[in-house]
Amino acid sequence: MPATAFSVRFERELDVDQLAILMTGTQPTQDRDGAELLSMFGDAIRADVQCSSCGKFGAHIVQPAKSRASKAVLRQAHFRFVDPNGGDAHHPFCEFHGNNETRSTQDSLLNFGSEKSAETRAIRLLVCKGIEQGIFDQRRIRDMRQWFFDLKSATRFTVSMPLEAISWAHALQHHPHHQRWQFHPSQAAMPAFDWKAAAKKQFTEEHFHLFELVKGGLLPFEDATWRQASELAQKYHGREVFDVTKLQPYYEAAISLCIFVAANSGIDFGKRQPEIYRWKGAPTALLALCALVLFVSDWDMNVAIAAFAKLLSAPEPSDGALGNVIGLNPFHEYGAWRLVIASGEVAAKSPNGLDYNARLAAIEAALREQHRQWKEHQP
Ligand SMILES: [Zn+2]
Repeated sequence: MPATAFSVRFERELDVDQLAILMTGTQPTQDRDGAELLSMFGDAIRADVQCSSCGKFGAHIVQPAKSRASKAVLRQAHFRFVDPNGGDAHHPFCEFHGNNETRSTQDSLLNFGSEKSAETRAIRLLVCKGIEQGIFDQRRIRDMRQWFFDLKSATRFTVSMPLEAISWAHALQHHPHHQRWQFHPSQAAMPAFDWKAAAKKQFTEEHFHLFELVKGGLLPFEDATWRQASELAQKYHGREVFDVTKLQPYYEAAISLCIFVAANSGIDFGKRQPEIYRWKGAPTALLALCALVLFVSDWDMNVAIAAFAKLLSAPEPSDGALGNVIGLNPFHEYGAWRLVIASGEVAAKSPNGLDYNARLAAIEAALREQHRQWKEHQP
């Protein structure tokens, strides 16, 4: 349920009240709210207002829900996108498809105007400057969003791997695979032989081809991202989804620019060291701005850096409200989807099952059996 959408006529992202002010010239009040003011403008809104994610038209205004007793707003007025047959107008891969009221859009939409953290305020100031300096405008922000959406939805794959693939790939990623060791049954003659450690080392030898798939390519390793991957794999199991690996070169370029900007801008973007962004992710607002600047620079890194230099040296913007842009994190769920895809690849190359603890137990049993047979043949 998007609270804001893009008006082609006014060339910006607006909520219902802001649209009402621009379309009617009247300020909404407690008694006549924006949704009511716009009640005569249904046709104009359907033809003008686009979903800010997938770009589809067909917007209707949904009245706010108010408590009868206190008149407090229980649910904000928002936009619903309806096709000519009364169905959901969103692209099936749009994050707003399915009218899911409970779905959080917090991390896909950034409200620079309402954010309170210092780093987001710094980004908001840069967004104001960027608009005032003519480096980008709201139309270009919408264009970038559409570009990313089309890129993602052009290639698809079906989520078909077993759900255990996620925990299996997670276990592989956390398995200590650097110490190589060749087991021999005679080693277990040591008085305090560690069978568990031996099983882990043998596991490494037997699964070495899989570690590259979960350790390479700068895959995320945070548990929160793995949890998100597990939720996505469950929710979309058997369904066709967009292929985020197409975003990889753009994500890596955006992260590189984030690291450069954080290290060389003189702005404090928080405690996390910029070099860590590659593994732990960059602050979302910074990532979104870097993606935007790269997009308007045709993904040329040095053109983008020149634009940042211009932004950072620009005078204080005269209109601080220009930064009230509902921005976009074009890499929403990117890391989690990469884990889903990597888990599928790992599962396809794992003929002996996807249960980490069961594999370790089976390996330990096999090593003990080798040792037993070896002992039998000792004089
Ligand atoms: Zn949509």
